[in-house]
Amino acid sequence: MENDMEKINCPLCDNTFVNFFSNKKNYKLYKCQKCKLLFVYPLPISLDVYDKTYFSGADKGFGYVDYDLDKQPMIPVFKKYLEIISSLGIKKGKLLDVGCATGFFMNIAKDFGFEVYGVEMSDFAAQKGRDAGLNIITGPLEGSNYPDSHFDVITMCDVLEHVSSPKDVLAEAKRILKKGGVLMVNTPDSESLWSRLFGSRWHLILPPEHLHYFSPFTLNYYLSNHGFKTMINTKIGKLFTFQYIFIMLYKWQGLKIWQTMSSFFSKGYFSRFFIPINLYDNFFMILKKTDEQ
Ligand SMILES: [Zn+2]
Repeated sequence: MENDMEKINCPLCDNTFVNFFSNKKNYKLYKCQKCKLLFVYPLPISLDVYDKTYFSGADKGFGYVDYDLDKQPMIPVFKKYLEIISSLGIKKGKLLDVGCATGFFMNIAKDFGFEVYGVEMSDFAAQKGRDAGLNIITGPLEGSNYPDSHFDVITMCDVLEHVSSPKDVLAEAKRILKKGGVLMVNTPDSESLWSRLFGSRWHLILPPEHLHYFSPFTLNYYLSNHGFKTMINTKIGKLFTFQYIFIMLYKWQGLKIWQTMSSFFSKGYFSRFFIPINLYDNFFMILKKTDEQ
């Protein structure tokens, strides 16, 4: 435990019972004792990490090697997300993908029958999607100015951990979602076995990329007090290329061997293979908006 003269409030529930959790790189992590949110404090001053290199190259030691290629194995996973949404009786209407990058998930949702929209912080990725004919706004969700009660579905796949204020993002999502519409979230689970085993060495503790770490408890606790009802709470595995797995190992452990392996697997025969992984350290939740506004 560290002594901090400064009083720290939980950025989600505003509670003051906040404990020091650990240091990671030059960042400090704290945990709220009420909603269990794990968060970086203070936040990095510049969040300018989502430029071109984030989506191609992973030069800074994080991000994607090649976004569209890395996402190929996710097609069946994204289809499963949409099947779960339609199992709740929502099969068409307006769907907004927050943090849509180049529009990979949007295209799959469009084929499913949804009218798709996207917002994306990286203008490089957003422009790539717009060039392909998709309706994507560059910027944060809070600045996108969609009308009240506009969407049937809002999706956030691996987004909530990245944003500087999840509270503001969730409030804006609620404002533009119709009553009876659903919010779909996939994000790292800070209460998972891996997280508890590894503490700050858990491979998903990645500041300045990941700033807020939820658990199913945290998201349900917060949103059930803010006009939502949890419909689905589960864990869905992902599919990864060998190249991506080795890059992740490199980022986690910093051993050069993983980087070498990654570039070996990026070429030829092996580049077309991907393997399913479910470490049960991400959770998938669908919540229905029950409030009128
Ligand atoms: Zn809290």
